[in-house]
Amino acid sequence: MGYIRFHALNAALKQKPLSIKEPKQKRSELFGVNVFNDTSMREYMTKETFVALKEAVNLGKKIDRKTADQVASAMKNWAINRGVTHYTHWFQPLTGSTAEKHDAFFDLDSSGIALESFNGSKLVQQEPDASSFPSGGIRNTFEARGYTAWDPSSPAFIIGTTLCIPTIFVSYTGESLDNKVPLIKALTAIDQAATDVAKYFDKNINKVIATLGIEQEYFLVDKALANSRPDIQMAGRMLLGHQPAKGQQLDDHYFGSIPDRALAYMRDLEIESIRLGIPLKTRHNEVAPNQFELAPLFEEASLAIDHNSLLMDLMQKIAKKHHFTVLFHEKPFAGVNGSGKHNNWSLSTDTGVNLLSPGKTPKSNLQFLTFFVNTIKAIHDYADLLRASIATAGNDIRLGANEAPPSIISVFIGKHLTEVLDELENVSDGRLTPEEKTELKLNVVGKIPEILLDNTDRNRTTPMAFTGNKFEFRAVGSSANCGKSMTVLNTIVAHQLQKFKKEVDYLIEVKEMKKDDAIFNVLRELIKESKDIRFEGDGYSEEWIENARNRGLKNTSNTPQALKYQITDDSIALFESNQIMSKLEIEARYEVELEDYVKKIQIESRILGDISQNHIIPTAVTYQNKLIKNVRGHKKIFGSLHKEYSSEQIKLIQQISKYISSIVTDVELMTEARKSANKLESIEHKADAYCNKVIPYFAKIRYACDKLELLVDDEIWPLTKYRELLFTK
Ligand code: ADP
Ligand code: MG
Repeated sequence: MGYIRFHALNAALKQKPLSIKEPKQKRSELFGVNVFNDTSMREYMTKETFVALKEAVNLGKKIDRKTADQVASAMKNWAINRGVTHYTHWFQPLTGSTAEKHDAFFDLDSSGIALESFNGSKLVQQEPDASSFPSGGIRNTFEARGYTAWDPSSPAFIIGTTLCIPTIFVSYTGESLDNKVPLIKALTAIDQAATDVAKYFDKNINKVIATLGIEQEYFLVDKALANSRPDIQMAGRMLLGHQPAKGQQLDDHYFGSIPDRALAYMRDLEIESIRLGIPLKTRHNEVAPNQFELAPLFEEASLAIDHNSLLMDLMQKIAKKHHFTVLFHEKPFAGVNGSGKHNNWSLSTDTGVNLLSPGKTPKSNLQFLTFFVNTIKAIHDYADLLRASIATAGNDIRLGANEAPPSIISVFIGKHLTEVLDELENVSDGRLTPEEKTELKLNVVGKIPEILLDNTDRNRTTPMAFTGNKFEFRAVGSSANCGKSMTVLNTIVAHQLQKFKKEVDYLIEVKEMKKDDAIFNVLRELIKESKDIRFEGDGYSEEWIENARNRGLKNTSNTPQALKYQITDDSIALFESNQIMSKLEIEARYEVELEDYVKKIQIESRILGDISQNHIIPTAVTYQNKLIKNVRGHKKIFGSLHKEYSSEQIKLIQQISKYISSIVTDVELMTEARKSANKLESIEHKADAYCNKVIPYFAKIRYACDKLELLVDDEIWPLTKYRELLFTK
């Protein structure tokens, strides 16, 4: 057996679950102890400062110098009392991960006296050496001028001995360089648009927030085993490897009892997360072996996304302690399920109402239908942008494969709501008669709560499902920063709600319709116009692909193609008119994402070339030599009769030669394709070339390597096998 494979297996077999002591406090008492939240703020700040800070956050006002200094000093004292020595501006650059640069509180004053210092200006703004973060050409590298600015709406927290201050990341010319700035703007847009519409139903509503609960899927693999394969170690997925005899077909993992080692890891993770104010609630096995999911309680969207980024960091950190590697890749193992990040999204008012939850009265149900139908219409009109918002090299392999939502964007709403929308579609044009109104109120709108209660429809094959009181965007990839998809979703719904309001107001003011009549009239049209995006059937079926094509829905299977939807005139107009992003910012992001795509495929292609040439071929040759020796031996013993005894060995020798030569040829051709792609000037052409000219060799090379894995003696095979990775306990 390969030396590394042997030692990795040995190490993995020896691992025991760590014993994790449950802290003395209940989890509710631990919640947020490492967060500079309202409780700690009240303790460390004057009432005046606290009120000024809260007011500024709630009204989006600027924080004055004096308040900033006082908040900084309170933060410093709180942190130092908890053993903290350093602080960092924590942000989410366009790499999709998080970034931090630590500075010590420790300082020397002008007379050389040592002290702990931190003030408002250090809190408010920092200039990281930003030249190595992607900017899509906005910020010239030699200038390296970008700065992080405190985001007071997201609370500071402590990790280890470092105070982390959530910030946004912008260039000196004002363009956003992170995932958060556009998100915050989109959340402002949806607040305004949804509040305006919600006022039709309740004048007391003054604010609407988007709520988000992110379910995170991931694989846990023993660290030694993960490191024993160059592809997992460097690309986070298996680029080759023959599938095992047993995969997930027995369905014996989903919701099964959680293995002890994984459970110890989850408990450790939960305790740390709870301390950081991440309200983790659910943990369970997923469908594939070694695949798991966790989900927090939902929160305000921006905070939920901060928490998800923080959680992903924690997951990696804590995994090390437990001798695990976490795989966030969307499709680490061909043949078994991939991982996603389900985004559960809704809208909630400052009066405590979930706008996507049917109410008790016909009036509140009309409110529900308004937000429900407008969301569907937004998804219909901007399906392409949603598709673009989840496009990455990793997600390309997941979408449409093994039990993952397809690349076609559609919405599932269940049988009962379909019936409700079908009835509403027939509302008569213009003013409603009193009979029609009674009919609608009693039999359509009035019935929603009861039917939803026993609505157990669960369609797992859809990229976007309505699940009773929220939409669930399931096509988001497990490694993604949800900032991008949530910026799109909130922007398009905001945009649609603005249009809706204009149309309703027009009917009321110009056509002198009653408010309810006007709303019903506009909803009817929206339902008709967006009908094609609704699909209740099996999203994994061949018929759906055909059916979707007939409906004119796009089936965009790769990232370079999907990303192009972001830079259409329509998309730019949408983002500009809602003040989410400028054309420059949109184009810069497009470039960053294409570059990321190219780099990922380039790396995978190199790894594949290396493994096949440095691991597979030499091993196959060694085995072939063994066979040749065997045939020679036969000849020595049996003389001219040897052919009868050697025929199978000779066949094997020939097969091995065939696969070796196909690997050598394809690796050469792939390398050539890469070289030609690299010569292309435009990043767009380069990405297309990587997609269409380089990737096709992956499957060919893998096929031949996997065949060799089946033929070659297991004793000398150097790479850890699927079975060992997924089933070693
Ligand atoms: P399931 O997907 O099995 O229905 P849950 O109902 O437990 O799972 O919800 C999954 C996620 O959706 C959780 O994070 C939960 O907090 C979140 N969620 C529930 N209600 C809302 C809401 N109104 N807005 C946003 N997320 C929500
Ligand atoms: Mg779910």
